[in-house]
Amino acid sequence: MESSPQQSPRRVTRRTLLSGTAALFAGSAAAEIAPASESQNEGRISADVLVVGGGTAGTIAAIQAARLGARTVLIEQGSQLGGTMTTGGVNFPGLFCAWGRQIIAGIGWELVKATVELQCGSLPDFSKSTWPALRKHPQFQVRLSAGLYAAIAEEACVQAGVALRYYEFPLSIRQTPDGWLLEVVGKGTRAEVHCRQLIDCTGNASVTGMAGLALQREAETQPGSICFTLDPAGQTKNQLYVFGADSSTSETHTAANIAGRKTVLEYFRALKGRSETGDIKLLDLRPETAVRETYRIVGETTVTKEDYEGGRIYPDAVAFAYYPIDLHTREGVRPQHLKEGTIPTIPLSALVPKGSTNLLVAGRCISSDRLANSALRVQASCMAMGQASGAAAALAASSGVTPLAVPLETLRAALCQHGAIVPDVK
Ligand SMILES: Cc1cc2nc3c(=O)[nH]c(=O)nc-3n(C[C@H](O)[C@H](O)[C@H](O)COP(=O)(O)OP(=O)(O)OC[C@H]3O[C@@H](n4cnc5c(N)ncnc54)[C@H](O)[C@@H]3O)c2cc1C
Repeated sequence: MESSPQQSPRRVTRRTLLSGTAALFAGSAAAEIAPASESQNEGRISADVLVVGGGTAGTIAAIQAARLGARTVLIEQGSQLGGTMTTGGVNFPGLFCAWGRQIIAGIGWELVKATVELQCGSLPDFSKSTWPALRKHPQFQVRLSAGLYAAIAEEACVQAGVALRYYEFPLSIRQTPDGWLLEVVGKGTRAEVHCRQLIDCTGNASVTGMAGLALQREAETQPGSICFTLDPAGQTKNQLYVFGADSSTSETHTAANIAGRKTVLEYFRALKGRSETGDIKLLDLRPETAVRETYRIVGETTVTKEDYEGGRIYPDAVAFAYYPIDLHTREGVRPQHLKEGTIPTIPLSALVPKGSTNLLVAGRCISSDRLANSALRVQASCMAMGQASGAAAALAASSGVTPLAVPLETLRAALCQHGAIVPDVK
């Protein structure tokens, strides 16, 4: 009801707003944790699908597997979901669009959209992702709150029934006649996890390497970056390169973090020492150096630069991808754009380590040559790979076959049913 001119509407001051907020949250602003049972900490856990690494790809893989009814466990060494996208501070996923239309959707997009909507942010207009606007591709990435995304992704995992295990990582791995047995350790926890299907989403192909399967790696990898927020940002940087950054072991990642923070301190002190930037504040420094490149798997199929740039439609394509070739070197980065209309695809067989059974890999360590990888590693593609691997693993577990034996029509139908955009290969 509109207020009449005689009735003055209640004046909303900061105090009334805050007391209203306090009333709203009375009794609901605190959390209560149920005591952990013995069985959560020790012993043998049985799963249809085990996902190792709850980053950009792994979160989506786990949700998809669980939504298809698989008993799903997700092991993440860190304290939250999202990996490079959240903890690494690269909270601007892309690209979900190319040539005027959306090319990647599904569970990753659902979470990204939910995060932006809750924050009352705005999404890029994908219909404008045409030439020449697409040359400035970062404008079509989605800016979002990393913390909010991590919380929303976690909520989606819990709602789907994913058993989340933070602060844990696998110590050993052994193949069994019907899957894999992993010894998993954490802070005061030790468990044996038996799974029918395993998905390696560590970003470094760590589990695949532990299983003794072939990996590939360049002599010199792309630099990592440490991300931060300055106020006022002005002409200052918000990330600095960390050459040699490698997240594949605790030792190398420790060195990358120390080098990253040292560089930020030096940069920040230099800014404080200049009259024009002396008032600048460091609002946020991400807790770890974000790493671009370490190991990739050697898969049943390897996506080459030619395949990627040619927009090859693989017979087992399960997702589209789009990003320029984007290799960072000591000289910086010069994105090489794709020809107008080109939309590369991702084959399921590039997510399968060569000669393996009951194992999939999703994320930046997809089987690809270095230049194709420099484009495929971006977040929207990692999410699409995550969803494809989660669906393939769940379907394989329920029918007792290895993922490559799941009929492609069944896999594609399941992906479409869960909102993904799947290339038409007919
Ligand atoms: C500086 C930088 C800038 C980038 N810019 C962009 C950009 O503008 N747009 C874009 O879309 N992409 C960008 N990317 C690329 C993109 O962010 C990453 O390639 C992508 O997020 C990788 O996803 P992932 O799932 O493979 O790995 P991650 O997201 O890194 O996830 C791996 C997860 O596995 C966990 N883990 C690792 N080992 C273990 C273990 N042994 N046990 C348990 N858990 C483990 C990690 O803690 C992490 O959570 C950028 C990357 C970097 C580094």
